[in-house]
Amino acid sequence: MASLSTLLPNPNLISKHNSTLSSTHPCAYSWKNKTPTSKGRFSVSCSSSSQAYDVVVVGAGVIGLTIARHFLVSSDLSVAVVDKAVPCSGATGAGQGHLWMVNKTPGSATWDLASRSHQLWKTLVQSIEEQGLDPMVELGWKQSGSLLIGRTDAESDVLKGRVKLLCEAGLKAEYLCSSDLIKEEPDLLVDKDSAAAFLPDDCQIDAYRTVAYIEKTNRSFASKGRYTEFYDDPVKCFIRSDSNGEVKAVQTSKNTIYSKKAVIVAAGCWTGSLMQDLFRNWGMDLHVPVMPRKGHLLVVQNFNFLQMNHGLMEADYLNHPTISGSESPDHQKNLSVSMVASIDAAGNLLLGSSREFVGFNTNLDESVVSYIWKRVGEFFPKLKTLPLSDLSASRKVRIGLRPYMLLSVPNGKPVIGPVPGLSNVYLAAGHEGSGLLMALGTAEMIVEMVLGYPAKVDSTPFAVQKVLV
Ligand SMILES: Cc1cc2nc3c(=O)[nH]c(=O)nc-3n(C[C@H](O)[C@H](O)[C@H](O)COP(=O)(O)OP(=O)(O)OC[C@H]3O[C@@H](n4cnc5c(N)ncnc54)[C@H](O)[C@@H]3O)c2cc1C
Repeated sequence: MASLSTLLPNPNLISKHNSTLSSTHPCAYSWKNKTPTSKGRFSVSCSSSSQAYDVVVVGAGVIGLTIARHFLVSSDLSVAVVDKAVPCSGATGAGQGHLWMVNKTPGSATWDLASRSHQLWKTLVQSIEEQGLDPMVELGWKQSGSLLIGRTDAESDVLKGRVKLLCEAGLKAEYLCSSDLIKEEPDLLVDKDSAAAFLPDDCQIDAYRTVAYIEKTNRSFASKGRYTEFYDDPVKCFIRSDSNGEVKAVQTSKNTIYSKKAVIVAAGCWTGSLMQDLFRNWGMDLHVPVMPRKGHLLVVQNFNFLQMNHGLMEADYLNHPTISGSESPDHQKNLSVSMVASIDAAGNLLLGSSREFVGFNTNLDESVVSYIWKRVGEFFPKLKTLPLSDLSASRKVRIGLRPYMLLSVPNGKPVIGPVPGLSNVYLAAGHEGSGLLMALGTAEMIVEMVLGYPAKVDSTPFAVQKVLV
């Protein structure tokens, strides 16, 4: 397996697989044939055709794109990425961008994957710097640290315990009492019971800049015939080989894309319905219980009303408490809103976050935005006095469907691994509210599985059969 430093493109890796895709193939990505999509991105324009790649990745969210990237930079395989729309049209485009460990629990099922991923992001940042580039420009990277804020005695005790655990796990973590906290965040409402867990090494990215960077990396392999994007081209079915029953191709609305080694399904909250559709033709039923968990993110552009030195999250976020029926007469009882605030690399205030199960609906719900604003006002008195209506010219709302995996233990844990009975089809989905953080570790895990390399992180907790019913 290539070392971490090779997570950037290695110009010396010449594909042995060029024959699978001629650089003059009508569908080969080239900057000459790029055409803007309706959403202003660039996509390969190609007529109906068939072609072969070693690996076909379904889904161009952060998970699918980083998997493609990891294959490209650490092997000589050719890769195609297929998406029904364009990158950032799914959950990824709504992601707040926090790569935080403050809300992760040492010893939990996702701890090792989250830690490894965190480390891989830092290594990527280092490699970008070594190339003379600025990670803030390339990824929207900021190491602003994170504060998990408690406001009661009971929460302070939880935070003390968490700091102890995080320190024992080798992270730099500090417990801040109220007087220390007010020094860090002078505009925060702090009383005698306030306290925080502070992780100075926690960091953030901007999802759009990061996705653009990963796409740029992936596209640098296109000229070698190793990378092609098929955007705005939904996958319709799998084609199985008559001889061994393995999936040999992915049929999209416009193309038949053959896979010589592996098909990776990273279709976020659509993974469950997609797998059911793909399997139905064979009289098989694979139940992947991933549910869309809708989230609103309020973005206030060029924000300068108050000082915010770190990323902030209220301790209650760990429980995602639901808004009670009386406070929320017009909502399902499952709406939860917790204060999560940060300032991104462009100086925008990002405020989250809401969670609700309302199917695949992505409509803007102004009442949810009002809840977010109200909740943030409870932590920042200066914002409490500012009506949301005053921000109408400078605000945006991003909405995404987090892929939430039911029936995994605990719920919300992703599935990463081969589909039972179909050894060349792998799932990588269900990262809920941590997909940006866990993307690089997930990508590494999938590549290790496909290529038979030793695992850096035990993949057992993420095995697909655990969620089959
Ligand atoms: C408000 C909000 C805040 C968040 N904040 C954070 C955060 O701070 N940190 C963090 O780590 N995570 C955060 N997340 C979670 C993170 O955004 C997700 O976990 C992550 O984006 C999931 O990525 P994905 O690639 O699995 O899914 P997606 O980004 O949804 O991508 C799935 C892709 O599959 C494609 N697809 C679906 N069906 C088909 C088909 N039939 N054929 C082809 N393509 C198909 C879709 O078009 C889509 O592009 C947040 C999420 C939300 C909503």
